[in-house]
Amino acid sequence: MFRFVVPLLAGVLCGGADWSTVGTPAPGPTQSIGFYSAGCLQGAHQLPLDGPGYEAIRISRNRYWGQPVMIDTITALGAKVRTAGQAHLYIGDVGQPRGGPAPTGHASHQNGLDADIWFERQPGPRRAPQDRENPRLRSLVRADDSGIDDEVFSPQHVQLLQIAAELPHVDRIFVNKFIKERLCQTVGGNRAWLNKLVVWAGHDEHFHIRLHCPPGNPQCQPQAGYYSDDGCGEPLHIWFTRPPVKLPPPGTVLPPYRPKLPAACTAVLNAP
Ligand SMILES: [Zn+2]
Repeated sequence: MFRFVVPLLAGVLCGGADWSTVGTPAPGPTQSIGFYSAGCLQGAHQLPLDGPGYEAIRISRNRYWGQPVMIDTITALGAKVRTAGQAHLYIGDVGQPRGGPAPTGHASHQNGLDADIWFERQPGPRRAPQDRENPRLRSLVRADDSGIDDEVFSPQHVQLLQIAAELPHVDRIFVNKFIKERLCQTVGGNRAWLNKLVVWAGHDEHFHIRLHCPPGNPQCQPQAGYYSDDGCGEPLHIWFTRPPVKLPPPGTVLPPYRPKLPAACTAVLNAP
């Protein structure tokens, strides 16, 4: 979930296959193995790069692979957003062809059950894949981290988050504390969907959908549960009262992120 900047050193030192350079999924039935931030994916499916209501961005990263249930979730979200009359969504990252740790960007997205959806929209015609490498991706939070940027935030973001939170199979959705606070303060009527929105650092330019481990994936490790209400009380307040989670400044080079993966991931990485 944190946005890490990690050198490609890990793969170089191993001298063999690396999660970020294997370009194809591992053969076999789809299986999520391990945890969201320490796992891998066998038999990944590819997100079609364009679909009704969405388009994948940063395609050169080759991180548009996931569990079939994740592909279905993204396409369903796009379809619902389109039906709601909103401009199409930017999707990316999902995961690498075999999951596993990525050299840049995040600690999670490793077992095919995480995806990032951007708040930014590109109204009008779609652009060619090669023109989607560096789209404008505005934050919903002011640059000085003092609160929501009302020049960018709009009711369509609220509707988007509700549509996403009410999709089946969603375990939780990570959003910035200011976004959750704004929703807690303003959403009326049915507030049940607020339960799915869990605060995490960052997540002001995009939100992060995490799905439950699918049935038939015995090696997939679920994440512990969280609050059962709307999460607008103490679980939110603590983000405003405790010392902030410090994210490294952009460009910071951290030591390689090398989680201990389940043993079964070695075969996934090395499969032909
Ligand atoms: Zn993410």
